[in-house]
Amino acid sequence: MRYASHIADLAGNTPLVRLNAVTAGDPGIRATVLAKVEYLNPGGSAKDRIASRIIDAAERDGLLQPGGTIVEPTSGNTGVGLALVALQRGYRMVFVVPDKFAGEKVAVLKAYGAEVVMTPTNVPPEHPDSYYSVSDRLAREIPGAFKPNQFANLNGPRAHYETTGPEIWRDTDGRVTHVVAGIGTGGTISGTGRFLKEATAGEIVVVGADPEGSIYSGGPIHGYAVEGVGEDFYPATFDPGVVDRYERVSDAESFAMTRRLTREEGLLVGGSSGMAVVAALRTARELPEDAVVIVVLPDHGRGYLSKLYDDAWLEARGFAMCTGTEIPTTGAH
Ligand code: PMP
Repeated sequence: MRYASHIADLAGNTPLVRLNAVTAGDPGIRATVLAKVEYLNPGGSAKDRIASRIIDAAERDGLLQPGGTIVEPTSGNTGVGLALVALQRGYRMVFVVPDKFAGEKVAVLKAYGAEVVMTPTNVPPEHPDSYYSVSDRLAREIPGAFKPNQFANLNGPRAHYETTGPEIWRDTDGRVTHVVAGIGTGGTISGTGRFLKEATAGEIVVVGADPEGSIYSGGPIHGYAVEGVGEDFYPATFDPGVVDRYERVSDAESFAMTRRLTREEGLLVGGSSGMAVVAALRTARELPEDAVVIVVLPDHGRGYLSKLYDDAWLEARGFAMCTGTEIPTTGAH
C-alpha cells in the first residue's frame, strides 16, 4: 500500500504545467512558460514546504517542547502550513493577522483550530499594535511559546533550496533558463534561486516580481492590494544577491491576470500568482524558442473569492477593468 502517514508529510513535489492561452495571446512569446503550481501543496500554498523544516529545527534546538504553543504573525498561508504540522505534533497555535487580509484566510486558520489575533495593517512595524510587535509580546507572555519568525528564520529559504529548486531542475531536465517569483519573506526566490544558480553555474536568470509600492524593486513605497508579496523592509530571509532583475507590477495588472489564469487556464490562484505571471510574460517576450521560463504560483484562489474574484470588490477599488468581461480571450491551442 502507498500512503502518507500524515497530510503534513505531503508538502512539495508540486507539478509544472504549461501556460497556454495567456502566452498564445502574446505575439512576442516563443519561449516555453511553465507554472509551478504550489496550491497543490496540502495546505494550499508554498508555505507548507517551510513549516515542517522550521518546526523540526525548533524541536532540535529545544525551542519547542511537547505541549508548546506556536505564535506567528502570518497573513494565512504560513499559518496553514504551521497548523498542519502543529496538528500532526500536538502544538497549540496562535496567529497574528493584519486586518487587510482576506476573511476566508482567517476562517481557514480557525477551522484548523488556531486562535487568531487581528491587528491594524497601516502602522509601521515598530508600532506596539503592529503584527510584528503583538506577536513578539504574545511570544514573551505565553509560557512555552515559540515564534518561528518566518521573516528571519533561515529554515524558510533552506526549505526552498532543498525542495523547490531541485524539483524545478529535475522536472525541466536541467533546461530551465529563467525563474520568476514574487517576494514576501524572500524565502522562495532566495532558496530556489540559489539552488538554480549553483546548478547552472550562474547561468539562470532570476526575476523578482514585485508590487508597485514595495521596497524590493525601488520607487516610492506605498500601500497596494495584492497580498503576500512586497515589503516595506528587508527581511533576513531575503538574499538580494540572487535576483538578477525586478519586474514591477501594478495591482490592476495583477488582478486582471489572476482572473485570466482562472478563466483561461483553469488555475484558480491568488493575486500574487497573477502578479508573477505578468512578470513572467514580460520576461519571456523576445526570448528564443528554447528558453524555459518557470513561474512560481504561490497559493490557491479559494482564499480570495470575496476579494479579487468578486466583481463588486474590484469595481469599488477602481479595478473594474480587471473583472475579465472586456478582456478578449484567445482560446487555448
Ligand atoms: N504569495 C503569497 C500569497 C504569499 O503568502 C507569500 C508568502 N508571504 C508569497 C507569495 C511570497 O513567498 P516568500 O515569503 O517565500 O517570498
